[in-house]
Amino acid sequence: MAQHQFQTEVSRLLHLIIHSLYSNREIFLRELVSNASDALDKLKYLSVSHDAYKTIEFDPRIDLSFDKEAKTLTVSDNGIGMNEAELVDSLGTIARSGTKAFLEKLAGDAKKDSNLIGQFGVGFYSAFMVAEKIEVISRKAGEEGAWKWTSDGKEGFEIEDASREGHGTTVLLHLGDEGLEYANRWSIEDIVKRYSNHVAFPIFLTFDEKEWDDKGGEKGSVRKTERINSGVALWKRAKSSITEEEYNEFYNQFGYDSSGPLHYVHTAAEGTLEYSTLFYIPKKAPFDMYNADYKPGVKLYVKRVFITDDDKELMPTWLRFVRGVIDSEDLPLNVSREILQQNKILANIKNASVKKLLSEFKSIADNAPSGGVAGADVAAGEKWETFVSQFNRPLKEGLYQDFANRGLIQELVRFKSSAQEGWTSFSDYVSRMKDGQKYIYFITGGDEKTLKASPLLEAYRAKGIEVLVMSDEIDEIVIPALHSYRKEGAAGDESQSWELKAVNRAGADEELGENQDKGAEKEAEPVLEKLKKALGGRVKDVKLSRRLHDSPSCIVSDDNDPSIQMAQMLKAMGQTEMPDIKPILEVNGEHPIVSGLKHTEDEARIADIAGVLLDQALLVEGIKLKDPADFVKRLNRLLG
Ligand code: ADP
Repeated sequence: MAQHQFQTEVSRLLHLIIHSLYSNREIFLRELVSNASDALDKLKYLSVSHDAYKTIEFDPRIDLSFDKEAKTLTVSDNGIGMNEAELVDSLGTIARSGTKAFLEKLAGDAKKDSNLIGQFGVGFYSAFMVAEKIEVISRKAGEEGAWKWTSDGKEGFEIEDASREGHGTTVLLHLGDEGLEYANRWSIEDIVKRYSNHVAFPIFLTFDEKEWDDKGGEKGSVRKTERINSGVALWKRAKSSITEEEYNEFYNQFGYDSSGPLHYVHTAAEGTLEYSTLFYIPKKAPFDMYNADYKPGVKLYVKRVFITDDDKELMPTWLRFVRGVIDSEDLPLNVSREILQQNKILANIKNASVKKLLSEFKSIADNAPSGGVAGADVAAGEKWETFVSQFNRPLKEGLYQDFANRGLIQELVRFKSSAQEGWTSFSDYVSRMKDGQKYIYFITGGDEKTLKASPLLEAYRAKGIEVLVMSDEIDEIVIPALHSYRKEGAAGDESQSWELKAVNRAGADEELGENQDKGAEKEAEPVLEKLKKALGGRVKDVKLSRRLHDSPSCIVSDDNDPSIQMAQMLKAMGQTEMPDIKPILEVNGEHPIVSGLKHTEDEARIADIAGVLLDQALLVEGIKLKDPADFVKRLNRLLG
């Protein structure tokens, strides 16, 4: 028997692992199973690539068993195994330079250190969180002897001769009090299913099952061995080998809905970074999509081992409806949440995934027929319709959250239009623009019906200028942040870029031309003065409108003010500091109510008319009146 001391770094690492990962100690099983899986991978590879190993025939498997009375838990594999020297090297020193460098960085500040631990794999040593003694019995494939490594995880370890039937490694844990809960069929199954379900090799659990006689009395027990992992990592298989049914079935396993996905994208990346992703777009938006504490839909795996399904950083929030898997070959198993957030590898995978998803959305859009839906196009058209109806809104969030991808997202979002039914894109709008039209016009601040009926649209309609009807609440926030639409891929080409203009802005009537000749403006002057005087502080200004045709009045906002609707929304959200935003009242000089004012000097009557002109313009925009009783009183007086 030979006594060995742990390398000093190992002692430090052990100490750190036990103290920082203790609350999550069940991961020891994930680590041991993944070591076993690596050992099987290595032997499998050698047995096909190296002549010396080609005669070895083996049926790769991982076996778990436990004994409650003896307080033991065993993880066994028939993989490559370790000889004496390898046992000393692998389980007594820290060979990996990355881990060494990491340990040198440790500050000795427990809190900082435990954040750092996620940067590297903790592996085998994590078993000391649950075991007071560990025995590793191993026999290297192709060699005769076997060796036993024993340690209590404190100062060092012993190595002695042993015997083992066949090649491979058996890790025997003598559980301490803090590990006893794992000598249990259900907790082992649960942990394996959670973390190691997709490990490629079969994992078996041996346990005793009680038998009962006819009268319900205990008759004894039988020893059983059952496979407890599913072993298929669909996302690791070649695309061409996977059927549509298999993709759907896998989606259903995720437990989102059983109606199958709307669409899926499966990618395998090789090169500087090696990873696979399998993403699904559901047919229906997740029920919690608009809850701040929504459940993220993407799971992270490292080499088929489950890491987390609870990390909102894996996808940008605006893609939170996407379901699926990211599996990286390059991340360490024990990567922690803090590390994930700043991890370059993951950031690269995420960026590439967002790009991939966007181009996939784009192809769904491009496949959908733009005009009438006919024949084989029906399905493609419906797919895109469903996508828009469910996910238009989160994509719009992406417009202001994801600057880097704004160009692509701009092409995907859809709006209603004053010129036609159904959805319209910016690029559709632009293709229908009138010759010489400079701006893209839009109206926000209410539901589709209210907006389409707004008097603000009258002159645009009369001139044949289309206006985008932005009836989604989020449009109000997103669109002003956008400023302009530039055709994707037309960077620098100013002829392919259009400023967005809200029709309820004072400055948006420039292209409407002169509604009145200069004389009309002069003539209206006294009327405007009367209205201004009557309305006093309720409005910022009263102007002669160029945009009204049938209606007598409308309100617009000063170019630098938030819209009235926006101001009301902010107030409702608790922004009590918001100053009162005053609208500008625009009146139609040709309308009899307005022109009639020329000949009225009765101040009470002017006040009633002015009040009604303002209040009806507010009402039509869906704005709540501050004093509805006053409006009704004035209206009745005028009718009388
Ligand atoms: P890691 O697995 O991240 O390398 P570990 O501390 O878990 O770190 O393991 C250290 C080394 O011990 C492994 O790299 C491997 O060479 C060896 N090892 C551990 N478990 C096994 C096993 N079941 N079979 C063969 N070798 C093993």
